[in-house]
Amino acid sequence: MKALRLGFDIDGVLADFRPALDARALERYGVVNTETRLQMEASILDKEDFSFWRRLKPLHEPGVGQWLYSSTPSYRYFITRRPPCTTPATQAWLRQYVVFSDSDILITGAVEKGDIVAGLFLDAYFDDDPIQCAQVTTKSPKTQVFLVSRPHNVWFDMNVWNREHNSRERIYRV
Ligand SMILES: [Mg+2]
Repeated sequence: MKALRLGFDIDGVLADFRPALDARALERYGVVNTETRLQMEASILDKEDFSFWRRLKPLHEPGVGQWLYSSTPSYRYFITRRPPCTTPATQAWLRQYVVFSDSDILITGAVEKGDIVAGLFLDAYFDDDPIQCAQVTTKSPKTQVFLVSRPHNVWFDMNVWNREHNSRERIYRV
């Protein structure tokens, strides 16, 4: 059997990033809105703030888990825009809360996922960001793309998007 090549975004898919981000924004700015959230996010991504990443709680989404822990042989790639300096902390977190074996690969500093997913010839890719999902389907049409449902992406109407694009460019919700 051919091994599957699977890709997973981390924050919002495996790690509960948004509530932790909002808590930090509230702590620093006294208010959580789009602006303070973006400022906080930029600040977290910019600094070597390992304690933030280590404390994130894991998410357990069955639709992701059935692929992540599948008995089908697979290559797993964890693809995140977290800065490269977080690589050891992220690996340790994955080992503790999700899974990370010697054959798994972590790619940090991935701001745009499309080219990476295409270059790795992934069979399936999971992300909570509709923009990233759309980019991946465009750059890597053979990859099955799964948008992981989160409160912050309910605005994205997948049916409309799929209708507006040709049949090869499809996004599925899990
Ligand atoms: Mg994400």
